[in-house]
This record gives sequence, structure tokens and C-alpha cells, in this order.
Amino acid sequence: MNLDSLSLPHKFSILERLMNTREILGHLVGFDSTSRKSNLDLIRWIAKFLAQKGIDSRLVHDEIGTKANLWATIGPSATGGIILSGHTDVVPVDGQAWTSDPFALTEREGRLYGRGTSDMKGFVAVALSAIERFAAAPLARPIHLAFSYDEEVGCHGVRRLLATLDLKAFRPAACIVGEPTMMRLVTSQKGYLGGRCDIQGFECHSSMALEGVNAIQYAARIIEWLRQRMQQHNRIGPFDPRFTPPMTTIHVGTIRGGTATNIVPRDCGFDFEIRAVPSEDPCAIVEDMRRYCRETLEPEMRAINADCAIHTELLSRIPALEGDLLSNAVRLVRAVTGDNDCLAVAYGTEAGFFSEAGIPTVICGPGSIEQAHKPDEFIDIAQLSLGDQFMDRLAAQLCLPLVGSPREV
Ligand SMILES: [Zn+2]
Repeated sequence: MNLDSLSLPHKFSILERLMNTREILGHLVGFDSTSRKSNLDLIRWIAKFLAQKGIDSRLVHDEIGTKANLWATIGPSATGGIILSGHTDVVPVDGQAWTSDPFALTEREGRLYGRGTSDMKGFVAVALSAIERFAAAPLARPIHLAFSYDEEVGCHGVRRLLATLDLKAFRPAACIVGEPTMMRLVTSQKGYLGGRCDIQGFECHSSMALEGVNAIQYAARIIEWLRQRMQQHNRIGPFDPRFTPPMTTIHVGTIRGGTATNIVPRDCGFDFEIRAVPSEDPCAIVEDMRRYCRETLEPEMRAINADCAIHTELLSRIPALEGDLLSNAVRLVRAVTGDNDCLAVAYGTEAGFFSEAGIPTVICGPGSIEQAHKPDEFIDIAQLSLGDQFMDRLAAQLCLPLVGSPREV
């Protein structure tokens, strides 16, 4: 791949910037970085791209070395500054009817089609396209790039990245997670908890059903408990009108169990998720569910067979993002975009992890979540251009002296 073709002339017109961004996006989309595959080819391409602009980067690999996060810093080695965060993995295209090759960027009617164009290689392309402008600007504070793996399958990469960073050493003042928001400012997201419940009953011939412990029927009772809990949230909240829907939701997504109609089933398991408004801790709901199993269901089951048990494990968690409208991140992005709204989203992003690590964080990026995860995912070319202009204004803010608006960033 010829990176030299991406070098820019010294004067950057809006059109030249857009052509550059688009070319980078074409390269990024060309890597099939579906979460189940390695992202190393893509990450190495980005590292080489940065190296050619004189920017060092650091890779933080997963446990077995098949995937990596990338961390890079542009500008002075001062404290403060901002993090631009994006994930490099994409969701599968399996079973989806695409009009064109999902891994070849294709233009039709003012849109660029390809897997990840909106979610969220578009933002990564916009950030990379701005590197030379960042590097040429007299930045007073640094810009950090944080590109992760495995966001789509539980945000594993960003957790590992944050665990390895010495945040106290450089104290980033704000983080912008570039998930697709049509360049609108999003300040809050619901928290997410995914879990699995496995029921071990006691099998026997179905003609002797009362002597067995039917795992499927016990699973049904737990699922009904979850449904009633959901109804309770629906009726009495807590409500947070920033979200649609404005309350915590609970949902069972898959179930498996049983072997034959004439056998009382020994095993049944189901997966559930909770999407909680920021004021509510989803772990508390799981604890209530565990108590119901422990105090009501397991004694009944064990009266028939002592080995019966119900196990609940948590599979993934994404912290909520509670928008602090006075935070550095909100003030910075408001200054850059002029967007004084504060939107909220019901889906989970890496923003919750940066926020939990003590970094004021917002979500703002090109493209629409409406196109994410669908066949014929696209990004409007106009959105990419808005992203380019966002990066220019961001760099201008970071050239300001420490006094001024927004302060401390
Ligand atoms: Zn995403």
C-alpha cells in the first residue's frame, strides 16, 4: 500500500482535506477487521501511516497477541490535552444483502458505502487525515489517539488500554469518542450489563415429571421475574427523560435447553441484558434476581434433588455516561461545534470507560448510528467534511494558551 500518496500539500483546502480523508477511509474499510478476526494488519497500517508523519505510536496487544490497541501522542508532552477515541473493529456482514463489496469503499449519490464507514472508521479516517495539520499547529496541549479492538464484542480492548496507561502522568483533560452522532454532542449514555443464567435441574422420564426438576420451567420463572421487574421500571421508573425509552430496560435475548419432549430437562440457560439509566446500578437488579433464585427457587429444587442449582454470571459491562455539562469535554466540544444541546443515547460506547477512569468524556463523530450494523452501511460525504472541519477547530482550541475558554483543556 502506498502511503506516500496520502501526503498533503502545505495548504489544505476543504476539498483537499476531504480527498485525503476519503482516501484514508478507503484503506481502513479495505481491512476486514470484523471483531472475530485479527485487527493487526489495520493497526500496523495506521502505525506506519503515523510513523511517516513523524508520530510514534505504541501498540497494546491482547493476551494472545492477535489484536492490538494503538496509542499515539501529537504535540507537546504536557499534561492536559485531549484523547480522540475510536474502535477499529466492525460487526460481521454475514447473512446481510450488500449491493457492493462491504470491504471496498464505494461511492453512490453522495454517500460512501462500506462496513464501518459510519461505525466508526469514518471518525478514525478524519482523525488520521488531520495528523499533518495537528503536527503543523503550535499546539499548547497534546492530542492523543486511542484506537481500540473488540469494542463491538464487549469493549475488551479499551479496558486493556486504560489499564496500561499511566493516566496520572499526563492527566488528559477530555476525551471525545467518535461514535456516529452526525457530529452532534452526546453527553450521556445508558449503562449496559450482559449476563448469563444457567439452571441445573434433575432429569427423569417425563411420565414421572413430579420426580424431576424441570430446568426449562425454572428458567421460565426467572425470565418471568425479569419481565415483571421490567414492568415495574416501566410503571415507576426511575425515569430519565433524556433517553428513549426513558427508563431501564431488561431483555432476554437467547435461550437453550432440553433434549427431548419425553425427558424432564436437566439443563437450561439464557442470556439477558440490562440497559440502565445512569442513576441506576444494573448490578443491583442482578443481585435481586440472584436473591429470588437463592431464597425462593433453589430451596424448591433442592427439596427434590440436592444437586440442583442456578448460576448467574456477568458477561459484559459498559458503564453509563452521566453528562456533566460543566465538564471540560462538554465545554470544548460546544466551543468547537457550536452545539449547545446535550443529547443522550441508549446504546453503549467506550465513553463509559474513559469517564469511569476520571476523564471528562463526550461522544461526537461523523455519520449516523442509523446506518450502523446494517447492510449497505454508508456515511454521507458531507459528514466526513464536517468531521474534517471539526478537527481543524479542535486543533485551534488546543493552540490557545491555558487561560481562556475552555479552560484547563
Ligand atoms: Zn461503534
